[in-house]
Amino acid sequence: MKDIKSLKIDELKAELGAMGEKAFRAGQIYKWLHVKLVSSFDEMTDLSAGLREKLGAEFVITDLKQLEVQVSKDDGTRKYLFELGDGNTVESVLMRYHHGNSVCISSQVGCRMGCRFCASTIGGCVRSLEPSEMLDQIYKITRDTGERVSNVVIMGMGEPMDNFDNVCRFLSMISDENGLNISQRNLTVSTCGLVPEIRKLADLHLGITLAISLHAGTDEKRQRLMPIALKYSLDELMDACSYYFRETGRRLTFEYSLIAGVNDTPQDADEIAHLASKVHAHVNLIPVNPVTETGFTPTSGKDTNAFKAALEKRGVTATVRREMGRDIDGACGQLRKRRMAPAE
Ligand code: SAH
Repeated sequence: MKDIKSLKIDELKAELGAMGEKAFRAGQIYKWLHVKLVSSFDEMTDLSAGLREKLGAEFVITDLKQLEVQVSKDDGTRKYLFELGDGNTVESVLMRYHHGNSVCISSQVGCRMGCRFCASTIGGCVRSLEPSEMLDQIYKITRDTGERVSNVVIMGMGEPMDNFDNVCRFLSMISDENGLNISQRNLTVSTCGLVPEIRKLADLHLGITLAISLHAGTDEKRQRLMPIALKYSLDELMDACSYYFRETGRRLTFEYSLIAGVNDTPQDADEIAHLASKVHAHVNLIPVNPVTETGFTPTSGKDTNAFKAALEKRGVTATVRREMGRDIDGACGQLRKRRMAPAE
């Protein structure tokens, strides 16, 4: 059965045409799926019972089951564990900021990138998510809270550039004016640095923000933290960043997780400042989230501020990412992991 929620409106028109239906029906159905966020054909009350039955025989509407939600007492952050149609699970997080609600979604079940500090990659990658399954994370949270989502970051489980086509389709559909119509300016994709895909994304000329997980300023150090650095050098990565900026006019963000005694010295700050100036990137600092298996500890608040000041002294803009939901399982992949190994 075909996954109707992953079809763009034009494709839906073509499908309906092939079924001998009028093209305008596609607009109605698209609205039910992507604005009213229904999960069954029976709810599409402006379609005839006959058409609803025909659709049900041809298409499936994906849906997620909400297994768990943890709510932070500190700041209202909500962390969700969802079950996909095949029983796999993914995490999504809703963060409430002054400027609106931001949802962090997963793009894969697990991850195969192997970053040493990350919980999502510990069991490897099970599979990539369909566009509908990425949309569903936002739709479910919208329905659960009754509040509009204004920002989306693809920073949950998985490497989005390792699921390139589905992620691009998702970006197009979530910003479609016929759907939730979230501005591309408010969409962020984070990657550990898959160079060919960064270039491919640049060629699409989207208005989104690209975040690069940098975490180290030399090849040698980066290779110890992130296996992807064995495949692509920092030179190649920075060239791809410059290309992205040139093609899209969008400033990049460097994500930098500060790990005590590993990547938080003044020399590290110097190296990062050099790279960030070269490609006009903004730096987002975040004290590493401790994950039992990794043994890494976060840089202190004082040293984090010193790192930020060192970057600013070199003319680089930097922010320390406010830790949200500190009282609930914080780091990516931790909620799912705890659920999979409850004895831990
Ligand atoms: N695979 C993508 C997106 C998912 S990870 C990427 O690598 O960018 C989202 C961000 O969280 C990345 O910057 C990642 O390096 C970072 N991250 C992962 N585990 C972390 C941890 N334990 N503490 C702090 N940041 C972490």
